[in-house]
Amino acid sequence: MSAAVALVNAVTATGGDDSAGALRRLLRDNEFFWQEFDDADAEDFRRWGRVLRPFFEAARLRDATELLNRLMLEIPMHPHLSDHEPHGLHMHYAPPSSRLPDRFRATTLMNLAELVVQYGLGRTGVCAADGCDRVYADTSRAGRRRFCTEACANRTNVAAFRARRRT
Ligand SMILES: [Zn+2]
Ligand SMILES: [Zn+2]
Repeated sequence: MSAAVALVNAVTATGGDDSAGALRRLLRDNEFFWQEFDDADAEDFRRWGRVLRPFFEAARLRDATELLNRLMLEIPMHPHLSDHEPHGLHMHYAPPSSRLPDRFRATTLMNLAELVVQYGLGRTGVCAADGCDRVYADTSRAGRRRFCTEACANRTNVAAFRARRRT
């Protein structure tokens, strides 16, 4: 989940860093292995970030599910069980021999699909702060998140407070 959000923000948000170095860091932070990562892969990741952005912008559930369904037919899927650190036994979605971008696509796609099955569009979106175009996904229990970061939430709350005091 956070992997999809991090990639979309790196590639499509104002001030995002989608350099090969930043993408490598993003993959490492999200526990993807990157041995075969090269500059051609970087372009695959950038493209995927742009492909996923409309999911977070979708106003209607139908648009979001249509997008995911179309992508699930396009991306090579081959679900199987894998047992490795740091997760222990878990699902892999791409064929075992697939390249890193394909594994990343399959994993992020299935993560978003699971989120939509559970919560509809209630847990994902574009940050509600003025002038911020970063996306978020909320996997917390409360699930009331509307901002990409605490910084954006605080900035918006302070502005609302000042506006109320003026009136
Ligand atoms: Zn794994
Ligand atoms: Zn924000």
